[in-house]
Amino acid sequence: MNILVAGFQHETNTFAPTMAAYENFVNGEDFPGLARGQDIFNLLSVNIPVSGFIQHVQKRGHTVTPVIWAGAGASAHVTKDAYERICGEIIDAVKSETYDAIYLDLHGAMVAQHIDDGEGELLARVRAVVGPDMKVMVSVDSHANVTQLLLSLASGVVAYRTYPHVDMADTGRRAGELLLALMDSDKPAHLVAKRVPFLIPVNSMSTMLQPARGLYGLLEGLEKTDVLSLSFAPGFPASDFPECGPMVWGYGFDEARIEKAVATLFARVCSPEEQWSVQFEEPDAAVARAMQIARIATRPVIIADTQDNPGVGGDSNTMGMLRALLKAGAQDAAIGLIRDPSAAAAAHKAGVGAKIEISLGGCPQIGDEPFRGTFEVEALSDGKFVFGGPMMNGKHADMGPMARLRIDGVRIAVSTQKAQLLDRNMYRTVGIEPAEMKILVNKSSVHFRADFAAIAEEILVARAPGPFIADPSQLPWKRLGAGMRTRPNGPIFVPGQSEPAHDVYATLKAMGIELAKPSAPAASYVPYSRDGNVLYLSGHLSRHANGEVRAGRLGESVQTEEGIQAARAAAIDLMATLQAATGDLNKVVKILKVTSMVASSPEFTSQHLVTNGASELLAQVFGPRGMHARSAFGVAQLPLGACVEIELVALVEPAV
Ligand SMILES: [Zn+2]
Repeated sequence: MNILVAGFQHETNTFAPTMAAYENFVNGEDFPGLARGQDIFNLLSVNIPVSGFIQHVQKRGHTVTPVIWAGAGASAHVTKDAYERICGEIIDAVKSETYDAIYLDLHGAMVAQHIDDGEGELLARVRAVVGPDMKVMVSVDSHANVTQLLLSLASGVVAYRTYPHVDMADTGRRAGELLLALMDSDKPAHLVAKRVPFLIPVNSMSTMLQPARGLYGLLEGLEKTDVLSLSFAPGFPASDFPECGPMVWGYGFDEARIEKAVATLFARVCSPEEQWSVQFEEPDAAVARAMQIARIATRPVIIADTQDNPGVGGDSNTMGMLRALLKAGAQDAAIGLIRDPSAAAAAHKAGVGAKIEISLGGCPQIGDEPFRGTFEVEALSDGKFVFGGPMMNGKHADMGPMARLRIDGVRIAVSTQKAQLLDRNMYRTVGIEPAEMKILVNKSSVHFRADFAAIAEEILVARAPGPFIADPSQLPWKRLGAGMRTRPNGPIFVPGQSEPAHDVYATLKAMGIELAKPSAPAASYVPYSRDGNVLYLSGHLSRHANGEVRAGRLGESVQTEEGIQAARAAAIDLMATLQAATGDLNKVVKILKVTSMVASSPEFTSQHLVTNGASELLAQVFGPRGMHARSAFGVAQLPLGACVEIELVALVEPAV
């Protein structure tokens, strides 16, 4: 079998200042430069998906026809020119009809000047040529905002499982495995996908930390249970288009099993949402804490200057952290990389030992002024180096002329080209040994952890000026999907409203929840009673969609994940009763109190986690109005053998 192979990667921060032009793809920036045809075989030692894919399918006796591989560092939109040129080359090759399957190495968060869903559009153009039957396999970054269009048109989509992305080549290998499994089978694979209803900050996605580390462990465990492929992409929360957000999806020949696996993973992603919250520090506070820790530390304290990370759309030139270091009088500190071609040129012209008075860096578009000062030129370099850390190991890089400047106790690694500081060799190129510094400020969000965690005393995340707003709820969203929450447990986005509002029905629709007729009481009582503006709802047993009671006991026949789903189902039923009682759920002023009874074995103590299935849903649907007081009990038995029963009290608008 011969497989057509192409790659086109870009992570688009639609709020960033600078677009990605064709030249950015030619240079490659954080990626290898643009390569065509046989030259793509030169990339086989690089940790990118296409290399893992090619090596896997070749090992299995297949051949590949490489077309083009193009990637550029994260930035604002891909220009129409760049998108059409690179897509055009791929589509021309697709028209050649000399292959049996296609593999595309894509990012999944590409927005072009003229197209919201860069990858979905590419797949649509491919399908227009090859028709519905050709197998088209796609791999994506874990920062992909995976769209329905992409999922519906690709035969399979698999995502990275690490951040820092040390498994890019391995993801290509998994794409190869899935493609060959699909081609070997005469049965169709089922796709199940669920959109996570809130944006996750980039800084909490690191798989070197919880919860992501445990989540991918769960994913790999689930994948061993008759599931072909399972993926979770936490997404890229700076792309203002309707399908921005995390997604859980998978493929399997057994529909029930893949549904269960996706539901289990989805539940773990969504519960509790607080697990994804991040503690950001303001620049002065971060430096003060770093200096305090550094006093007795034997290793450097690292501050992630996350908002100017070029890996997420920064230009790697803001001066906020440098100002904070100088203001605090920090010693033995280093910051990198500051991309400033004219500063690098001035240093090279003046020579080592010279003092230069220049305006360094700055990003005036976002109110960050250049820093005017006198710097000593301590070292010069041609900017050529080889990555030594795990992420890009062995890749050759050319940062253009570089210089080490010094002002007071701070050394600055200045470069001509833009790249995320994720490898210790980037400092070493200008003679800074990272492990010998007291404080390092890295313009990176998470990727640096792969190479720096081993030498770090502690890692802090600072919120200095930069074009990437680390807390997605602070971004000026305009086109996000209705009902999406802009951070974990955050406000719900409603299109056309600058202030987040909470239209309950828009939220329910966005979440795919339909309110059925409320369940009838199980004995001689009413489903609710009203006293003025207060509604008391009777206990609602958790039921399946067909009305059958969800029976069993937690700690025995019912797992915690199923209990969470049972509590969620009871909450949906409670909302149906609220709807019947009020005629309009928007008239619910506040959910006052939730009481949950969980049929439990004597040993089971996670009634609170089970009840979160209801509490989190109410908070999602009603926004701040859904936050409530709560009690959760373990009980020996519930009516009809039900596993969960929940009641609630709500304040509602006066009846007219
Ligand atoms: Zn990524």
